[in-house]
Amino acid sequence: MKYVDEYRRAKDVHALVAATRRAVTRPWVLMEICGGQTHAIVRHGIDQLLPPEIELVHGPGCPVCVTPLELVDKALAIASRPEVIFTSYGDMLRVPGSGRDLFGVRAAGGDVRVVYSPLDAVQLARENADREVVFFAIGFETTAPANAMSAWQAKRLGLRNFSLLVSHVRVPPAMHAILGAPENRVQAFLAAGHVCAVMGYHEYPSIAARYKVPIVVTGFEPVDIVQGIYRAVRQLERGLAETENAYGRAVTFDGNRPAQDLIRRTFAGCDRAWRGIGIIPDSGWRLRQELAEFDAEQRFEVGAIRPEESPTCIAGRILQGMAKPHDCPAFGSACTPEHPLGATMVSAEGACAAYYRYGR
Ligand code: SF4
Repeated sequence: MKYVDEYRRAKDVHALVAATRRAVTRPWVLMEICGGQTHAIVRHGIDQLLPPEIELVHGPGCPVCVTPLELVDKALAIASRPEVIFTSYGDMLRVPGSGRDLFGVRAAGGDVRVVYSPLDAVQLARENADREVVFFAIGFETTAPANAMSAWQAKRLGLRNFSLLVSHVRVPPAMHAILGAPENRVQAFLAAGHVCAVMGYHEYPSIAARYKVPIVVTGFEPVDIVQGIYRAVRQLERGLAETENAYGRAVTFDGNRPAQDLIRRTFAGCDRAWRGIGIIPDSGWRLRQELAEFDAEQRFEVGAIRPEESPTCIAGRILQGMAKPHDCPAFGSACTPEHPLGATMVSAEGACAAYYRYGR
């Protein structure tokens, strides 16, 4: 398959690893931002191929993992209402809230459905005029355009029974938070290629310059990832802190301008809590006032929510590169994919799930 098979060739991976080995002279800590990259790294054993000087730590780019507990609890409360059809991507159904998850709501009689697009939820609203259809609109910049489109489509159709429970987060403020933390260990970033396909990477040079860290826009296939690592190490060894694009087949400096315009017309910036990490200023998006009629948080009164996180879970430290999944005392014992204590054990992009699945 074009653009896929050629980026999975073992000989190209080994050539780039060999080049990295020749380039490296001392220890470096690199963070891959995206959970999809984390899974690719662990699945293909890329971290085990690298020279011992290079440590990869895993970033917060897993939308399911960082959706704040309070919002998961709100989702559970809304999904429990008899008039509601609650729709979501499949991963969110097993994410633990303070007491249970969306599967638990469904088992108790709630109408919780998996959809593959927010537009499927719009269609459900058209077909069920006597019910309230809510879509759990989580994610990074990548999913924002489709979620935005669903709000405008509902408005165009005059739907009064469709709403979005929005928990959008943005990557650049998280990079600031990680690099500005006193415990930070990250010396270079592999930026998430799909986020940059939408947003471009024009926000990154100022981050690279301010914190003196190389940032390499990186894809998801093994050759992409090793290429990103090689370029980051090459910069570190030369004392550079620049932004490079190693995913040129999908990403341009400016990104997808029509998608960005759609996002701007739909969402306004806001402070957002990240699960396990806390509030990061101006790191989220909420629906603009002119679309407030589609805001599930305004439509449903769910009462005071007091979220209670598992005291054992250290997912917040893992998502900031301060710990690894096997540093958690519950990893693989009290916490497994069948009985997760934290969201990073649930998601297809969660670091704990990757370590568990591939036997680390
Ligand atoms: S193993 Fe489970 S409890 Fe531990 S950090 Fe990961 S998700 Fe949290």
